[in-house]
Amino acid sequence: MKYLAPLFFISLGAFAQQNFDTVRIRPVKIKENIYMLKGSGGNIGLITGKDGNLIIDDQFAPLSGKIKAAVQAIDQGSIKYLINTHLHGDHTGGNENFRRDGVTIIAQNHVRERMMKEQYNAVRKTTIPASNPEALPVITFDDRVELHINGEDLEVFHFNFGSHTDGDAIVHFKNANVYHMGDVFVRYGYPFIDMGNGGSINGFIKVLDLALARISDSAVIIPGHGELATKADVKLFRDRLVDIRDQIAAALKKGKKAEEIPAFGITDKYDAEWGKGFLKGKDFVLMIAEELSKK
Ligand SMILES: [Zn+2]
Repeated sequence: MKYLAPLFFISLGAFAQQNFDTVRIRPVKIKENIYMLKGSGGNIGLITGKDGNLIIDDQFAPLSGKIKAAVQAIDQGSIKYLINTHLHGDHTGGNENFRRDGVTIIAQNHVRERMMKEQYNAVRKTTIPASNPEALPVITFDDRVELHINGEDLEVFHFNFGSHTDGDAIVHFKNANVYHMGDVFVRYGYPFIDMGNGGSINGFIKVLDLALARISDSAVIIPGHGELATKADVKLFRDRLVDIRDQIAAALKKGKKAEEIPAFGITDKYDAEWGKGFLKGKDFVLMIAEELSKK
């Protein structure tokens, strides 16, 4: 059940009953040797070639065999590197399986540090046990690392602000101009902000601003969850978060209590589109109001 633990709200509804046997790993071709793989959990990025294949994120442990088969159907070579965009189990669940196959796992420092310890899930008020040492990243970095393989220059970078967590990495395939943004950009609706693991609404917005400053209009964006996107989609996502954050901050400034704010209808205009996600507008507002009221 380990792979279910970090899923917070999602787990009880959608995944607890999930039968991984029925999940298919579906490749979406982006450029000559660059793909997004969809299955269950976070989107996987892939670059293939003679230097060995590299994947970004690895979904849940029961899917590792299918992920390997899907990569092999595209390129016969083995997977050599795996980058984790952050610690959540729907992005790192297969780490142990891939490491056992000799894959080198790379992540931001805080991902490894947090996986080594028991984590507290503030939302479900439960603890998640420390990861098996075999599941830990072996190469860690502070703010950036570059990989030069298969004719591509990959820059993996982290901005020093807690956003979705405090260990989020964004990967840029510089020549192809493709980004994998992890859960700093998602398309399932209101984004989850994991404050128990160093996340913060202000950091989330700051990281999106810093990322948007370097993303060009022609870039292809792989979101942490959902379909391929463009810079304009990331900008819209950021603008909505700023609007919601600013209205909550204004209400707090007027002396409103955090628990009163969800009733103000701040997210009503976004609910038609974003309310279908696992986090409802009112839950999202309360989460942010509680965070901002603590400061
Ligand atoms: Zn996540």
